[in-house]
Amino acid sequence: MTIYNLGSINADLAYSVPHLPLPGETLAASEMIRGLGGKGANMSVAAARAAGRVVHIGAVGKEGGWAVERLMEYGVDTRHIATVDAATGHAIILVDGQGENSIVIHHGANHAIPEELLGRVLADADTGDILLMQNETLLQPEAARMARKLGLRVAYAAAPFEAEAALAVLDHTDILVLNAVEMAQLEEATGLDLPRMGVKTVIVTEGGDGCRIHLAENGWKPERFAAPKVNAVDTTGAGDTFTGYLIAGIDRGMPLKQAVDLATRAAAIMVTRRGTADVIPDLKDVQDARL
Ligand code: ATP
Repeated sequence: MTIYNLGSINADLAYSVPHLPLPGETLAASEMIRGLGGKGANMSVAAARAAGRVVHIGAVGKEGGWAVERLMEYGVDTRHIATVDAATGHAIILVDGQGENSIVIHHGANHAIPEELLGRVLADADTGDILLMQNETLLQPEAARMARKLGLRVAYAAAPFEAEAALAVLDHTDILVLNAVEMAQLEEATGLDLPRMGVKTVIVTEGGDGCRIHLAENGWKPERFAAPKVNAVDTTGAGDTFTGYLIAGIDRGMPLKQAVDLATRAAAIMVTRRGTADVIPDLKDVQDARL
């Protein structure tokens, strides 16, 4: 089956600075690293590394060809990434000597994905394929409605959390993935408990503690999965790696618990590495790891 991922593509521009700049101050960076990032791109890479067939639906600016090429190298189908008249989405990350950071995000092309692209791409989808989405693009409600009508399953990672965005898609979501903080925010914003959210499968990640799954068919009783103990050096992208692997496992027909197990192993390896999309482990690393 195929995963259609409507998602952001960012350039992560990380600058090493002696200290975070004060208002009006100009600073020289000692180093600059440009990496591929954005929750959408991260999840596409993770799902492709997990041997999923992934079609990315998104947009970059004219200078974003390198990001598309990198996605392609990781095995993502990039034919439906539009080039639009906006800057490629980016995050400017300043990191000081103590590891403290300041981040500015520009949505740019991620908020300019042409709506007609959705209909065109999803028209090729088969019943049982999966639409995956997060909150770094627009058009999620339109995509979810369209996907449901076509018989696709809809998976939604409600991050970064936005109450309005979540409320607009919950009714059309089959699989909801979010971290514990986002879950609390969602409950508070909607005033709804799990049974009334309208989603049948909910997976809540809990950092180094692993995750819990809540299924309607089991009366919502949480089932916990511990994360392996590892030496965590950078948790950036752990959630995205988890979700990409999880959805790829489900898409490949694995029982949910097996897919959760695979995702938990992949995310544990991810936190031992510094970086985002470029260091997401591949399936062989995950299978061979002694965790
Ligand atoms: P992030 O925003 O850092 O990418 P998140 O907040 O979306 O992550 P988390 O709940 O922090 O999500 O982590 C997602 C998954 O990654 C967890 O369910 C767990 O499987 C794995 N993970 C995170 N931190 C650790 C850790 N210290 N050790 C092992 N696994 C971890």
